[in-house]
Amino acid sequence: MSNTPSNEALRALEGEIRAFAEAHLVEPPSVTRGSDEFWHDGWKRCAEAGVIGGPLPEEWGGGGRGLSSTIVTMETLGSSCPDLGLLFSINAHLWAVAIPILTFGTEEQKRRWLPGLADGSLIGGHGATEPDAGSDIFSMTSTARRDGEDWVLDGHKSFVANGPISDVFVVYATTDPERGELGVTAFIVERDRPGLSIGEPLEKVGLRTSPSGTITLNDCRIPAGNILGSEGGGAACFNCSMEWERGSILAMHVGSMERQLNDAIAHVRSRRQFGRAIGSFQSVANRIVDMKVRLDTARPLVRRIGELKDAGRNAMLESAIAKLHVSEAAVASGLDAMQVHGSRGYLSENRIDVELRDSLGARIYSGTNDMQRVMIARLLGLPSSLVGGD
Ligand SMILES: Cc1cc2nc3c(=O)[nH]c(=O)nc-3n(C[C@H](O)[C@H](O)[C@H](O)COP(=O)(O)OP(=O)(O)OC[C@H]3O[C@@H](n4cnc5c(N)ncnc54)[C@H](O)[C@@H]3O)c2cc1C
Repeated sequence: MSNTPSNEALRALEGEIRAFAEAHLVEPPSVTRGSDEFWHDGWKRCAEAGVIGGPLPEEWGGGGRGLSSTIVTMETLGSSCPDLGLLFSINAHLWAVAIPILTFGTEEQKRRWLPGLADGSLIGGHGATEPDAGSDIFSMTSTARRDGEDWVLDGHKSFVANGPISDVFVVYATTDPERGELGVTAFIVERDRPGLSIGEPLEKVGLRTSPSGTITLNDCRIPAGNILGSEGGGAACFNCSMEWERGSILAMHVGSMERQLNDAIAHVRSRRQFGRAIGSFQSVANRIVDMKVRLDTARPLVRRIGELKDAGRNAMLESAIAKLHVSEAAVASGLDAMQVHGSRGYLSENRIDVELRDSLGARIYSGTNDMQRVMIARLLGLPSSLVGGD
């Protein structure tokens, strides 16, 4: 049976979230001071409003909301909160840390971590990517070896979202290099574990208010109770978090596309050249039309993932399709928004560049769009291009 809320319930939720965002999230430091710092106060406000714990069960301090509700929440925040980096951080925390612990964790792990992850007092980070293992993620060389009652982790993780500010990480390492994907295992590693060091925030093109960093594990000893899922079960954990993440994280870009469209319509109606509103020129109007078409094709793709997951169904194919389409649509619409604003679009003070730069990351994170194409082809039954290699 599906747990998808009715359209009325989703509309009511949207109204509630919009009212919250308009009251508390419209003036992040990135807007008021041009700061790229993580907005801790915005995180706290989202936690207090139940946004961060929303998809976690009530028994762990969450809101017990399904994915459809979370997608509507993220869409609404994407259209009303100008700090997409904050929303990105919330998504990374939820899908790559909290949901894997909920799905694969023991009762003890859930008791220990989920309440803090739900109320936002803990921030989660996700360490999978390595300098030499990006798209080919299961070729990672970070290792974990058993030593008595402990595991000892060694390796280097790059591009860890929330890395500089995380309290707890889900880290992937190989426990059996001979077995490739089946030898990868997930671990929960606390920030203060001896042997774990955290690098400086990386300077990124976009999503700059979401700090990303590196983590290094050097003889980092963690108790056996910190293994997440089974030994060799890391791929299942990783794929699960990517399936959820691709659905929800893209929702914020749908919201942002909606805001860009509304701003662009207002601009082309009021800006006059040659004695008329520029929206009356067909090439300008066509850009607005294309933005609308992209928005209206993106939204249902993301919503469909919510419906499938709320019905307890697999959404691997649909998540890959949504990831690919929505991220490309967001970039194309960001370019159109800049173009219809002319030189105003090119001025940093108008922040049109910020959303464009934020959207560029969406073509790379959660698996690049090339890799989404590879996955879609494979799920359609085409022969895999990933067998063998040079
Ligand atoms: C904003 C942001 C946040 C991120 N957050 C995290 C995080 O929290 N945790 C984490 O672990 N990682 C994170 N990442 C890293 C991200 O998962 C990787 O960047 C991504 O998987 C690609 O790996 P790569 O950058 O090494 O590129 P590469 O794998 O080196 O790819 C380079 C290019 O080659 C293409 N390519 C590679 N292999 C193939 C193939 N088989 N077929 C077709 N094309 C191919 C790619 O599509 C890409 O265009 C983040 C990245 C970004 C941009």
